[in-house]
Amino acid sequence: MKAEVVDGWPRGNAIRILLSETDASQVNAIRRALISDVPKLAISRVNFTQGVVEQDGQIIESVNVLPDEVLAHRLAMIPIPTFTDDNISFVEDCEECMYKPESEKGCQQCQIIYSLNVQGPAKDSEEDHVTVYASHLTTVSDQKYDILEEHKRIPLTILSKGQYLELYALARLGRGSSHQKWAPVSGVGFKPLQKITLNKPKKADVLFNLGLKTSDGKDINAKLFGSKKTVEDINHILDVEKALHQVGPGTGRDLDFDDAITMETIEGSYVFSFETDGSYDPKTAFNLAMKELSARFDNLTEDIKKAFA
Ligand SMILES: [Zn+2]
Repeated sequence: MKAEVVDGWPRGNAIRILLSETDASQVNAIRRALISDVPKLAISRVNFTQGVVEQDGQIIESVNVLPDEVLAHRLAMIPIPTFTDDNISFVEDCEECMYKPESEKGCQQCQIIYSLNVQGPAKDSEEDHVTVYASHLTTVSDQKYDILEEHKRIPLTILSKGQYLELYALARLGRGSSHQKWAPVSGVGFKPLQKITLNKPKKADVLFNLGLKTSDGKDINAKLFGSKKTVEDINHILDVEKALHQVGPGTGRDLDFDDAITMETIEGSYVFSFETDGSYDPKTAFNLAMKELSARFDNLTEDIKKAFA
């Protein structure tokens, strides 16, 4: 199998990769590995402070509109930046914690600690509530684990006068196969690469006259096809593929268009695309998926050897 990042990608957390010399089952294995096998950090344990405190003559209580379980789930779904080179281990594999009872597990080597402490509006404030955001989480561990800028505005709950929220949240490594909070990607999909051919330039005007543009703003017209009467750029191939729906069956334009442009599947080549939640950059996520897969097949080979011995 060959993998090549398509020109112009990654864009932010999204990527398009051309996979060739492969088949759909292999590509799907990568898709599944990305969703459920690539480990990442997510908040999986929360300790809420409970109680009533008096502060500046005001009694404040550890309550808010959401039950603790719901809040814990909202915290779990915040993407936590994850790094491949800092040797954080799974709690179950952690040498420090392996033999500890469940309730005492968790140390510097296997978890990242966040704290949050927010109070509702002051007694004499005009505001009637304060919104608690993901940005209120501060890392007690290394600052590189701070919640990313793009996720800081994720709202968690609101606090009214006389309310406060104080908690410690522990992020640990896990895999998407156990819970969605550990899935580093979304929108993972792939489609066979198409060869697009301009057969009848005159009739193709039915499409060209619609004034459609490619995703990078070029006109979809005869010029896009060049002298070879085909589209080379993979982003443009996908754009034209989409545009062809405007002249396909059911549009009332298909008879005039008369298959002026046709698509033909290129065997063994797929355009693979996905977006990460920000915990990894997309190239890293892809490499980790490949690593997970190869580790699994190594194990499998070993097991087969054992089975036949
Ligand atoms: Zn540990």
